[in-house]
Amino acid sequence: MSVKEPTDTEKLNDFVRTIIADDVASNKHGGSVVTRFPPEPSGLLHIGHAKAICLDFGVASEFGGRCHLRFDDTNPEVEEDEYVQSIHRDIKWLGFDWGEHFYHASDYFERLYDFAVELIGKGSAYVCDWSSEEIAANRGTLTEPANASPGRSRSVEENLDLFARMRAGEFEEGACVVRAKIDLGSSVLPLRDPTIYRILKTPHHRTGTEWCVYPMYDFAHCLSDSLELITHSLCTLEFIDRRPLYEWFLAQLDVPSNPQQIEFARLNVAYTVTSKRNLKRFVEEGFVSGWDDPRMPTLAGLRRRGYTPESIRNFCKGVGVAKRENLIQVARLEFSVREHLNRIADRRMAVLKPLKVVITNYPEDEIEQLDAINNPEDPGAGSRQVPFSREIYIEQDDFMEDAPKKFFRLSQGREVRLRYAYFVTCNDVIKDDAGNVVELHCTYDPATRGGNSPDGRKVKGTLHWVSAAAGVPAEVRLYDTLLDLEDPSDLEEGKTLLDHVRPNSLETLTDCVVEPILADTPEGTSVQFERLGYYCVDPDSEAGRPVFNRTVTLRDTWAKVAKKK
Ligand code: ATP
Ligand code: MG
Repeated sequence: MSVKEPTDTEKLNDFVRTIIADDVASNKHGGSVVTRFPPEPSGLLHIGHAKAICLDFGVASEFGGRCHLRFDDTNPEVEEDEYVQSIHRDIKWLGFDWGEHFYHASDYFERLYDFAVELIGKGSAYVCDWSSEEIAANRGTLTEPANASPGRSRSVEENLDLFARMRAGEFEEGACVVRAKIDLGSSVLPLRDPTIYRILKTPHHRTGTEWCVYPMYDFAHCLSDSLELITHSLCTLEFIDRRPLYEWFLAQLDVPSNPQQIEFARLNVAYTVTSKRNLKRFVEEGFVSGWDDPRMPTLAGLRRRGYTPESIRNFCKGVGVAKRENLIQVARLEFSVREHLNRIADRRMAVLKPLKVVITNYPEDEIEQLDAINNPEDPGAGSRQVPFSREIYIEQDDFMEDAPKKFFRLSQGREVRLRYAYFVTCNDVIKDDAGNVVELHCTYDPATRGGNSPDGRKVKGTLHWVSAAAGVPAEVRLYDTLLDLEDPSDLEEGKTLLDHVRPNSLETLTDCVVEPILADTPEGTSVQFERLGYYCVDPDSEAGRPVFNRTVTLRDTWAKVAKKK
């Protein structure tokens, strides 16, 4: 798949909303709209789930309906309660609420069992004692029908008896399954007698050891939808081949309602994994620090990185709902968060790679407070005081010896503005024995207090800085994408995504200095470090030594700031 974003027409013609609007207009499903979000509690939610959540909850509220949260907990082998809690937290964080409509597929185990009995009773399902390998080997091909297993011709009575004994625990795992009796020659492969019940002796996170037969997803999902009177069951495209099966079960059984399945394209983001199975491997094999590592595309990771719920919702809205597979650029995600943080994040100064500057004509022990605007986009955010002193830090990158003309930062003999402070001129460059620049000696012009020129004198550059005397030490973590592969579906044969993990996707800077106001900022707070980007306070912060995650870099907004001055 090459990078192909949905076209504007595709976004405008959101086919899901069109279908639902038509259904409401024609009074299908009695005019009601009930959707569900059905996560499997086998991992944390990721950015792909966010798209499904925004769609499921979004259309329900737009059409005056409701959206259920239903855990698809039909596979006790991969489920954990811890995931259930985090899924609750993440959906709420994203800004959605299921109210009282919180369900589990396991709530319906008894009724699903009864449905299976009903199907067997009609002669439309049977106990098959082939192993899963035998079933696969006898599945046939597109041109050859599947083979019938001996169980297919068993009597209804015998099947009912065997199923009851499966439930009672008489058989070992894998000894037999129940299969729907549909059509071994169907060109729709999922209709070739799919398995609907299997034996699993792993305790379930909710029902414990009560059950040892578990329904398969295809059987449980459509029937759970029907039991909850879901009207529109929105799912991703990979389920399109299974829609005939979804409809077949509903048609065969005496169900309370007839929901309809509608498929939309998954969200795929360049350089990003949106599959729990792979994300789990990154965690378990130590490629990241956990599910909430800021490089993870999980909602927990994005939150720790500094993404806001609003930025993720806007991203999902911008991406739209399409029927065609697509691959979204990372820049789109970054744009959404930058756009939101620009409006809400306070500006602060931080120096990530410090170079000491001594202002030789500034009094030794003085610390002076200068006014700095918190957020030019939000006048209500007010201003703060930033301490200035004889010794300050600037970024190493903001100084260059023998700089070319176009280098608008500091160099010998050149004058620049220190943001909110003074104009300074560099006179001397101090080096260590190896010839590295370790300190600059500058003089300041007291008449330029606040960074304003008294005589119309122009300086080309404005630098951020932090007082050496008053600044606070900090750690800053910079991130690159975890993968070096643009399209994760485009794996070379024999390779896995683990082969594409970048070795240096995390760069930790431990010698940073930040304004003292940032000493005890609550975790999760987002700020803009002037000229550098948006950063978010990490839970690893300690009193007096904050840790920041870079959420996203700035575009070059600095040129604009300099002009305003
Ligand atoms: P994964 O591959 O990550 O395990 P899944 O589809 O198995 O994903 P579920 O917990 O079963 O995960 O998914 C819950 C819902 O979220 C489903 O309706 C599914 O279609 C939807 N969903 C999952 N991944 C994406 C995605 N990348 N884009 C849009 N919707 C998604
Ligand atoms: Mg799934």
